[in-house]
Amino acid sequence: MKYIGAHVSAAGGVENTPERAHQIGATAFALFTKNQRQWSSAPLTEPSVAAFREACAKFGFGAGQILPHDSYLINLGHPAEAELAKSRAAFTDEMRRAEILGIDRLNFHPGSTLGVISVEECLDRIAESINLALEATRGVTAVIENTAGQGSGVGFRFEHLARIIAGVTDRSRVGVCLDTCHTLAAGYDLRSVAACEATFDEFGQVIGFEYLRGMHLNDTLKLFGSRVDRHAPLGEGVIGWDCFRYIMGDGRFDGMPLVLETPDESRWPAEIAALKELVG
Ligand SMILES: [Zn+2]
Ligand SMILES: [Zn+2]
Repeated sequence: MKYIGAHVSAAGGVENTPERAHQIGATAFALFTKNQRQWSSAPLTEPSVAAFREACAKFGFGAGQILPHDSYLINLGHPAEAELAKSRAAFTDEMRRAEILGIDRLNFHPGSTLGVISVEECLDRIAESINLALEATRGVTAVIENTAGQGSGVGFRFEHLARIIAGVTDRSRVGVCLDTCHTLAAGYDLRSVAACEATFDEFGQVIGFEYLRGMHLNDTLKLFGSRVDRHAPLGEGVIGWDCFRYIMGDGRFDGMPLVLETPDESRWPAEIAALKELVG
């Protein structure tokens, strides 16, 4: 079963997200469970949590169909101890929010060296950050997103993600989300069926499909290997439809949220419908 959707707005409360997703024809969705540009948000209220769970049941969103995204401020590989502690506390809070809402996974950008520490040291800090969050929560998988490799961010090589996973104690609760825009920007080709085959084979060998917990489906405005993250509507960037057709036709991408983060929201219903067509 393919679960296809988009990152919908949580304006007015998380309880509004399932209906928003349903309205655009989605069978999966992503959301922020707090303001993604602020360090602290009010805790989720009991009525809001109950309404969210009710709406998920009503519109048919179960485990494997919802992929919350954490705050952009968090850097789980931060080189400075005080800031690292702040990020770890915020991340654990996000994991707890997912747990309270009955969501089984949380997507996050791994972190950044800020040019101060080595990539390896940063990756090991991220693994330890995940260990701390997993110890403090239950039932939620930490899902590392691959990055485009902008600036001093880590996680753009499959080997980076593999090293983080190797440092996690409970590997049943760590996973990966591949963003197609980031993948191409990082230098993994997806522009043809043969390119997709080679890239996903490499993913299978370096990380393993058993760790894949979601996908972000985006085309990209920037060139192959540019290390720049600029999303484009499906089929209107450098990647093109071959890649999205490949993913829709491949069972290794079943049973997980496949989420659009494309720039023009008004086109999501059409993009979702087009993807569903490709499932056949
Ligand atoms: Zn993404
Ligand atoms: Zn991106």
